Amino acid sequence: MVSGKTRFGLDEVHIPEVWYNIIPDLKNPPAPPRAFAPDGTELTPGQIGERLASLFPTEVLKQEMSGERYIDIPGAVLDVYKTYRPSPLLRARQLERVLGLPAGIRIYYKYEGVSPAGSHKPNTAIPQAYYNKQEGITKISTETGAGQWGSALSIAGALYGIDVEVFMVKVSYEQKPYRRILMETYGASVHASPTNLTDAGRHVLAMDPDSTGSLGIAISEAVEVAAKNPDTHYALGSVLNHVCLHQTIIGQEAIAQMELAEDEPDVVVACVGGGSNFAGIAFPYYQRKLEGKSNARLVAVEPKACPTLTAGEYRYDLGDEAGMTPQMLMYTLGHDFVPAGIHAGGLRYHGDSPLVSQLVHEGEAEAVAVDQTACFAAALQFARAEGILPAPESSHAILAAIDEAQAAHEAGEDRVILFNLSGHGHFDLAAYATYNAGEMQDYDHAAGATLREPE
Ligand SMILES: *Cc1c(COP(=O)(O)O)cnc(C)c1O
Repeated sequence: MVSGKTRFGLDEVHIPEVWYNIIPDLKNPPAPPRAFAPDGTELTPGQIGERLASLFPTEVLKQEMSGERYIDIPGAVLDVYKTYRPSPLLRARQLERVLGLPAGIRIYYKYEGVSPAGSHKPNTAIPQAYYNKQEGITKISTETGAGQWGSALSIAGALYGIDVEVFMVKVSYEQKPYRRILMETYGASVHASPTNLTDAGRHVLAMDPDSTGSLGIAISEAVEVAAKNPDTHYALGSVLNHVCLHQTIIGQEAIAQMELAEDEPDVVVACVGGGSNFAGIAFPYYQRKLEGKSNARLVAVEPKACPTLTAGEYRYDLGDEAGMTPQMLMYTLGHDFVPAGIHAGGLRYHGDSPLVSQLVHEGEAEAVAVDQTACFAAALQFARAEGILPAPESSHAILAAIDEAQAAHEAGEDRVILFNLSGHGHFDLAAYATYNAGEMQDYDHAAGATLREPE
């Protein structure tokens, strides 16, 4: 019997006290990162470890490579999680009604927009800042696309008394002044990337003075700052194993909340930029499938302007533009790929989490690519039905969830759909204005510019 309630698990569900590490449950062990010296010789794992140790806390690096299935969440981190978690899980009853769905097709969503940053990103920003603080780090440098990650890390930095320096992709810096103001209000310093402050930024500007930037370029700048300053570390808001790990509280809560709803999803959907919110909701369901308790399909949704999983190659590639990071085995469009300036800035990354890439490569997760105008149409339909204005990134998951519901309806099948609503769109009103004025465009990934060497 399906529950008659709409909103699940604010007081009934406990916040998980462990993060779930998917690594020991993968079909194959993950491929190790690779890096090369300037003369082309491959670095040993020890040498790579030394390099990474100048960027990340020891505890975070341990988590990055851990084979332990469960990792305890520190009590101090749980205390901060408790200020906004568990996040609600809702049944989208009004949306179901608007779509005219029969009772056998139900849509649920996990809403991560209730965090102070308005997205899932604080789930990892808080532990990352905590571990840095424990190791005496006084400053963290980072990149941000849409400004979501920069906001989350700025809040976490403020909580732990750590300075935060943010390299914000220029197109977003210009499109989203309020995200910048938010970060500055929390005490962070914010630059439009590419900047003249780093070698990596200066190199890009020399080739293309009008560069709108990319996450790859901004990462190079932030890593350079951390590598050159001993009291400064770097933090990444997606892609890496420890980030996916921290996000698994989303899926663990969702499983408990779906139990309260007395329902079980047939499909679990999330958008993918670097893969962390998808990992957050999907990895615990992957484990549930291994336990024989779920048959859910896991669906990753990406923009057609940056279709890493659906059109990229599965190979070793750099995580950034300038080659400051090790190479990882993942789906990639090439580390010099600069996607068109779509409004879902958080989805403009050339690569993808190696763990998420591996699940797709092994056939354990599916991927689809969608156009941004269709996403905004879905976002409006959702906002008008459910009352929540979604982030442009999250609208990709909404569209795919609606498509799943309609496909089931046409096929005369039952289907329970759970998607992750990764954030709210209160800072994305300029994008909505563009859409409402009928001026939004779609881009093929071929439209993404590739950096050229100067003539
Ligand atoms: C950053 C962000 C994303 C994309 O990042 P992932 O690591 O793929 O989750 C999606 N939605 C929102 C709201 C974001 O802030």
